[in-house]
Amino acid sequence: MKARGKVNLCLLVGAPRTDGLHPLVSVFQPTALADEVTIEPASPEEIVAIARREAAARRRDGASGVRDLVVCPGVYGDNLALRAFTEFRAATGWDGAPQRISIAKRIPVAGGMAGGSADAAAALRLAGQVSGIPVPNHLAMRLGADVPALLHDTRALVTGAGEHVEPVAGAELPLVIVPLDAALTAKEVYRAFDILGAARSDEELAEAAARIRAGHDPPLVNDLEPAARRLCRAIDPALEALEKEGAEHPMVTGSGPTVFGRAADPERVAARLREAGYNRAVAA
Ligand code: ATP
Repeated sequence: MKARGKVNLCLLVGAPRTDGLHPLVSVFQPTALADEVTIEPASPEEIVAIARREAAARRRDGASGVRDLVVCPGVYGDNLALRAFTEFRAATGWDGAPQRISIAKRIPVAGGMAGGSADAAAALRLAGQVSGIPVPNHLAMRLGADVPALLHDTRALVTGAGEHVEPVAGAELPLVIVPLDAALTAKEVYRAFDILGAARSDEELAEAAARIRAGHDPPLVNDLEPAARRLCRAIDPALEALEKEGAEHPMVTGSGPTVFGRAADPERVAARLREAGYNRAVAA
């Protein structure tokens, strides 16, 4: 199953709520740049390994409930797709055979395209398919603020702290995406955003959401961009390169550092960017 990443056509951000999450108004645009997530029953050896791991977890700090395993080259530590399966089992009581979740990563890791959330959303859909049980509504948000929108996999207006997702009209855009050889965590970028003190008021956010619902184009603004640019010096030259090679409205996506622009001929612009040294530039 394809797990498409996203770019934020707009990302307007308010001050943190009492639960620590930031209110936002964003338009998520799924991209052709996607991971591939597949599942199959775990082998007998893998089932033994899962049981051993669970026994060790139980001795350490109580059962973890992890009944599946993930193979995801390039991502170390806990994997959101595996967590999606574990939470799905816990929420639904599904006790099907242990599964091996295999992920071929193409979306840049910690790049602002919500690759981990896309994999988690795909894992939830796959768990729903293999079990025959619909995915409970509350599960996606528990896995992360971007997961509800990615579960929909269409262009969407995202409000609240990510939990309200409404499909919005608009043709798929020809995009050029430029992943950089750098990583930023959403947490550090939001922290820098808070320090800059540029949060939008609730009224501004409500007004922007209403305009988008009424069919206006989203404002081409990412409020996290100044914070991401301060934290990652490679962003400014990449934005300039996008502009120079013919892309319109170069922007940072999400918490960065990936940048993107629109282009009538995205393949040509991506090829020119690769020639200029941005080896990972793609039309998407
Ligand atoms: P966000 O804006 O939601 O933080 P991002 O695109 O900036 O998204 P991700 O690629 O989703 O960042 O990854 C953030 C962190 O999550 C990574 O550093 C990685 O350790 C962890 N992670 C867990 N599972 C995955 C996964 N399947 N793919 C990528 N990263 C994962």
